[in-house]
Amino acid sequence: MSESTGLAWVPLSGIGYDVHAFAEGRALVLGGVTIPFHKGLDGHSDADVLCHAIADAILGAIGEQDIGHHFPNTDASYRGISSIELLRRVGAILAKRGARLMNVDSTLIAEAPKVGPHVAAMRENISKALGITPDRVGVKATTNERMGFVGREEGIAAFAVASVIIPTPPTASGPSA
Ligand SMILES: [Zn+2]
Repeated sequence: MSESTGLAWVPLSGIGYDVHAFAEGRALVLGGVTIPFHKGLDGHSDADVLCHAIADAILGAIGEQDIGHHFPNTDASYRGISSIELLRRVGAILAKRGARLMNVDSTLIAEAPKVGPHVAAMRENISKALGITPDRVGVKATTNERMGFVGREEGIAAFAVASVIIPTPPTASGPSA
């Protein structure tokens, strides 16, 4: 592409953070996997905190506003929506910009339940939604050593980073290439 059009593939990265509180009577969905637990996360969508952090990282990498802007919780059509579907739509925004996702990495911070046994399935779901291979999707999990709101099992937090490449004219801002 760079030879024929004069565009250079410029690497960009983004960060995402999200947190949701636990609520009774909700399913716990993380990375598109429904995990057996006595409570779930509260939210307008399925409250998949991991997918939300990843979505924000990708949107941030291409200079877009966050998922709350693209998929507002005031819009009834997003009530209960699968966040894997939201990730698909973020992938479509990326494609529309001509950008390609290189990888995402993420960390879930949860005191309970144990998410380790579900990580492989999460990576599979997320990679399928984003059109990349599972080895390009990092999902790690840790506890908060019983400290703070996560430590008191009041909710779950997630961090993510995303790396993309985007075709950019040589005259645009950024490193010359
Ligand atoms: Zn969220």
